[in-house]
Formats: sequence, structure tokens, C-alpha cells
Amino acid sequence: MAGLDDMGEKLAPHIAVIGGGCAGLAAAAKLAEHGLQVTLFESSPNLGGRARGVDWKGLRLDNGQHILLGAYQETLSLLKQAGVDIDQKLVRLPLKLRMHGEFELTAPSFLPAPLHILFGLLSATGLSWKDRFSALRIMTWMRLSGFKISQDMPLERYLIQHKQSPRLVRLLWEPLCLAALNTLVAQASTQVFLNVLRDSFTKVKSNSDMLLPKEDLSTLIAEPVANYIQNHRGNIRTATAISEITKDTQVKNNQGFIVKTEGGEEFHFSHVIVATSPFRAAPLFEKLTELNHAATLAKKLTYQPIYTVYLQYSEDAKLTMPMIGFAQGLSQWVFDRGLLYGQHGLLAVVISAEGDHQALTQEQLAVEIAEELSVAFPELGQPLWHKVIAEKRATFSCTYIIQRPAQKTALANLYLAGDYTEGDYPATIEGAVRSGVLCANHIIESIQQGTTP
Ligand SMILES: Cc1cc2nc3c(=O)[nH]c(=O)nc-3n(C[C@H](O)[C@H](O)[C@H](O)COP(=O)(O)OP(=O)(O)OC[C@H]3O[C@@H](n4cnc5c(N)ncnc54)[C@H](O)[C@@H]3O)c2cc1C
Repeated sequence: MAGLDDMGEKLAPHIAVIGGGCAGLAAAAKLAEHGLQVTLFESSPNLGGRARGVDWKGLRLDNGQHILLGAYQETLSLLKQAGVDIDQKLVRLPLKLRMHGEFELTAPSFLPAPLHILFGLLSATGLSWKDRFSALRIMTWMRLSGFKISQDMPLERYLIQHKQSPRLVRLLWEPLCLAALNTLVAQASTQVFLNVLRDSFTKVKSNSDMLLPKEDLSTLIAEPVANYIQNHRGNIRTATAISEITKDTQVKNNQGFIVKTEGGEEFHFSHVIVATSPFRAAPLFEKLTELNHAATLAKKLTYQPIYTVYLQYSEDAKLTMPMIGFAQGLSQWVFDRGLLYGQHGLLAVVISAEGDHQALTQEQLAVEIAEELSVAFPELGQPLWHKVIAEKRATFSCTYIIQRPAQKTALANLYLAGDYTEGDYPATIEGAVRSGVLCANHIIESIQQGTTP
């Protein structure tokens, strides 16, 4: 695809983005915005990767119920750029955590950040005064230390050092950690957790808002971003898996690449952004020894599941708020898709990270969840049907010991994007989008500075 002149030098930059999840889409959109020629390859027939809509019984579900935060600046600006009306397409809920029957924290709207969260902690119900003060103390400590620790450690250890009681951990910190890092507190990275708190609870109050999609994730993210890319002369090829990347020896300094598809096609590019999940990235590098280190880091990552159990009740069944937490049992968060999406009577129950639920069949799990809900909300009645979506490798395990590969690799002009690459964030849409934008910006900068061949 990239043209070659008689001297064997490249005529114009043409960038391949491999993978059409949030990272790849964000990278391609940024490159297209700058008028660069970009081709995005996605192995599946649909874009979106781990954040996508799924058709089921005539309904549009998601592969997993997702939450965005007001602090997701790059994601929100990508959506705005793609023409998504954020106020129309996302329900903005000021911070309110309800752990069913046990605990409730409401951050008052009349106070600026971070006072709103401090006041929220002080006035939380379901905690003793001792717990409220120790939560307030640790938050103050986090702020004073700039949300940084000198040596990463398991979040559980950090919480114990800061005298957080088991109840406080169970009702507040563990649910927040699971929602943000999808990793149990016993292994979770304290530093990454602090990064998320820093961005959510400082600066402006709206950063701690929870943004819940009003439509499925493909309609919200992948489709408008793909339209934006194509409207800016970007090329998108779905159902096209890439099997190999090699150096293009015809290009000056070997800084171009040949990208091969599983179907046997070959394309030439000046730059490549590999935006697949980590376990799909490493096999692509087999012929690129310079990437051995990045491949080793990617291979060392371990994964955590997320299960979403959809339960359809009668259409008049509903919860009192769109999102309610559970601190006991298997259910962790229950979302009312009727209140959010107009899918009346449909609840989505999210179970993050590894746990006892993995030993159950999907049928057993749905029955257990339905039982838990019938105890918590007897007025719901019995579900009419259920559907379990188990994402076994939903995210990398965001532990305190992992090393994440950088976006820049040992090969000039080949970059890695994806939620697993180096960055402040755990595996989230925001982490993925940031990584994609960063790769695109590196390329734009090198082209503008003329350092690209
Ligand atoms: C159930 C679930 C719930 C989640 N909840 C939240 C949440 O509430 N909030 C949040 O922010 N994040 C959440 N996440 C995480 C978030 O979805 C991911 O962090 C993000 O979507 C990852 O994007 P990515 O582009 O890095 O990777 P991916 O989405 O995995 O994209 C990689 C793409 O590359 C494609 N690909 C792979 N190999 C090839 C190849 N050889 N050739 C071409 N294409 C290839 C794949 O098909 C895929 O489309 C959740 C994830 C799951 C699974």
C-alpha cells in the first residue's frame, strides 16, 4: 500500500493499525485527523474489541456492562471528535455508592472537589465514626503524598498500614478496586489504584461522576469513531486478521514494514501500530527479534475474568437507581438497563476478577444470581430468561509487580497500543484510548520533524 519510488525510498507515510478495539480506533482517528493515510485491520467482523455490542434475542446487549468516569478525558474527547453528544448518550451520575443494605456514600453537589468526597465519607451511612475518620485520614494522606508511593505494594497491605478496618475494606475499598482494576485487593497495584483516585477525586468535581452508556458500546464508541476515520479518508478492513509483520528490506534503513494477513495478502507500510490484546501481539513479532523484550513482557501478563449475567424480568420490574453494589455473595454490581437503555426489566449483574463463581456452570451461576436478587429485591419476581457472558481474559491482572511494555519499541516506526501498555491506568477504555493517542502522536511528531524515513 505504501508507494516506493525508483530509489527504493518511501513516497508517503502510510500507517497500519492492527486491531480495532478502543486503542486502535483512537490511534487511527488521531492519525486521520492529521490527514495521514491510515489503514486499520480488525480480525473480527465487528469493531470494538472488548467494548462491543452483542445481539441477543432481538436485543442489543454488551459483551460486558461498562462504566466510564468523568475523569476519562481522552475517551470523552475522542467521542466528541466523532460527533457523539456526550450529554445525550451517557447518563451522568454524580458520585453515589450504594452497597445494598449496608453502606451508602453520596458526594454532595454543593461542595467542590475534593471536599465533596471528604464530606461524602463523613456522612456515609453504614460505617462507624471510627471507620469514617479512618477513611477520611487515608484520603487526606493520599492527597498529601500526591497520590504516590515510593514502592508499589498490594493494595491490601497499604490499606492495613493505614488502619482501614476489614469492614471498610469490604464495603468501600474492595468494590472500588474491583471496579477500577478488576484485580483483588490482595494483589492489586496500590499505585495504579491511587492514579485512578487522583484523577477522579481531585481537580473538578465532575471527574468523579460515573458515566453510564445509554446505548450499546458499538453504537456509542466503535461505530461513530469508525465513521470519523472513514470520513477522513482512513481505510478500515474488518474480518482481516494479521498473521505476521516483517521488515521491508526495500525501504531505506529497513524502517518500513510488510504486514501479512491470514488470507495471504501482503501490504507495505511506513509505520505500524500493533493495537491487539497482549496475547495476540506477541505472536505477530516472531520475525522481529528487536521486539523480543516487548513480547516477553506481554507474555508474562496474566488475566482476570469479568462475567456479566443478564436477567430479563417482566417489563415493569425495576431498581431504585441505575447501579447498586453488593458486598456479599457473588453479585458485585447490578445495573438496571431499563433505567439506562430503555430495555425495561433487564438487569445486568457484573462479577469482576477471579472467584468462586468460576467453578459454576453458566446455568448454575445465573440461578445463584437470580436467587441473590430475589432476596435483595423480592418485588422483581422471577427472571424470564438469562444470558451469561463470560470474558475469561477481560483485562490483564493489574498487580503490584507487573511490568508493562512501552508504546515506543526497539524498532523505529513500530508502536504498541492497548490497555496493557505502559501508563497510569488499569485496563480500561481510557487506558486503551490514551495509549492509541500516544502512539499516533509519536508518529505525527516524527513525521513533522522529518525524523521518519
Ligand atoms: C466484560 C468487560 C467489562 C469491562 N468493564 C469496563 C468498564 O466498566 N470500564 C472500562 O473503562 N473498561 C472496562 N473494560 C475494559 C475495556 O473494555 C478494555 O480495557 C478496552 O476495551 C481494551 O481496548 P484495547 O483496544 O486495548 O483492546 P481490545 O478491545 O482487546 O482490542 C484489540 C482488537 O484487536 C483485534 N485483533 C486481535 N488480533 C488481531 C490480529 N491478528 N489482526 C487484526 N486484529 C486483531 C481484536 O479482535 C480486538 O478487536 C471491560 C472489559 C470487559 C471485557
